[in-house]
Amino acid sequence: MPAVGALRVAVGYPNTYFVAMSSLAFQWVVELTAAFDDVGVERFFTDPPLLGRTLESSSHLGDFDVLAWTCSFELDAPNILATLDAAGIPRRSSERDHNHPIVVVGGAVASINPLPLSPAVDVFVLGSTELLWPSFLDALRGETDRGRLLETLAGMDGFFVPSLHLDSRGAPLGKRRRVEKRDAHMSDPSMVPASHVVTPHTEYSGRGLIEMSRGCPEKCRYCWVSYNYGRLRCYSTEGILERVDRLSSITKRIGFVATAVGDHPDLGFILEACRERGLEVALSSLRIPAMRREILEPLAASGARSVTIAPETGTDRLRTSLNKPISNEAILEAVATAQTCGIENIKMYFIIGLPGETDGDLRGIADLLRKTQSLMVAHGRDRGRVGSLLAGFNVLVPKPYTPYAREPMLTRREAKRRMGIVETAAAGISNLTIDRPSYRQAQWQTHLSRGDIS
Ligand code: SF4
Repeated sequence: MPAVGALRVAVGYPNTYFVAMSSLAFQWVVELTAAFDDVGVERFFTDPPLLGRTLESSSHLGDFDVLAWTCSFELDAPNILATLDAAGIPRRSSERDHNHPIVVVGGAVASINPLPLSPAVDVFVLGSTELLWPSFLDALRGETDRGRLLETLAGMDGFFVPSLHLDSRGAPLGKRRRVEKRDAHMSDPSMVPASHVVTPHTEYSGRGLIEMSRGCPEKCRYCWVSYNYGRLRCYSTEGILERVDRLSSITKRIGFVATAVGDHPDLGFILEACRERGLEVALSSLRIPAMRREILEPLAASGARSVTIAPETGTDRLRTSLNKPISNEAILEAVATAQTCGIENIKMYFIIGLPGETDGDLRGIADLLRKTQSLMVAHGRDRGRVGSLLAGFNVLVPKPYTPYAREPMLTRREAKRRMGIVETAAAGISNLTIDRPSYRQAQWQTHLSRGDIS
């Protein structure tokens, strides 16, 4: 069905349907847009047969008033240009006029560093969609002249309009203010992001996603989230359970997502409520201090068999220097608790190339993995099977607005050498899968998160 409404808005994600529908941020923008009676909304992705057209009616993207992308990962950003090309819409905003849609980009990439995409984008949305999207649509309703619309948005917090906020050399004329949810918004049930559509064709196959909180109680030095989303704010338990009830009418599988999902003060109660409703639950990665029995037991009772944690490195010394003062002993205790509760499979994430990293820290990663595996074997003996251990690695991407923003990135050769040290030291650990980092991806991510308009 084509979008019906006074305003035609196409909401897109710069990747495939599968990846897009796995993103709660994208699904939430669709939900928020569809809630307006006078707005007709359709979705678009990068799957080849429909590149440049919408999924619902195969309409040409050039026929819409607005093209609004959610871009969560730097590596997806070039797909925005490919989509404009496929739709026959000029890449440069300066070459577009009132015959073309307004090109809008929101999501983490807009906030981390909008400059590399600036020549192509009319408006970036900086902050919470719930707070900014209604103002954007109001401005659009009230102004038919493209230039005056951009001027109006340029005067509002939370919008970055490159044609008005950059000087002739492409340098920002000032700092733009992000607009984030505050405590009052977190207690409003209508503000709890949840899946708009539940489909088997996603990473979380058939799972309805619900956001638990924003921000994080920690401030790890490499983490963009902690320096930009602010302190931890949790959605109300009532609001979350209202979303659980809505989604449970269409799926028995729920996923709670957040940067610090384990830090919701009522998580144990919420998991128990899900178990009583016969729901199977998964959580996005847990902070290590949140891996407590009162969280892990109800999680296991809801069907979870794996948890993801991020030790980041192998020694207490380097971890403390990241402002993540968690000891290897505490990590192993958390693994043991998970095993005792029946959560068999462990995923651990590490970063190589951290400032101050030595070869000893790299061998420390292998040592931590070996001790983790020994614990898993010991617990697995009683069960009759040993869980799987996955170690995923990334090369440090120095993010803007963090204390590591100006740190150098490893060279390809050095990244290979350091990974070699880890793999040699980890040789012989049974049941361990190592997921090596993609240097090329890290390099692109670094260019796009630190690059300028050129
Ligand atoms: S715990 Fe995770 S989300 Fe929080 S600051 Fe550290 S890396 Fe970022």
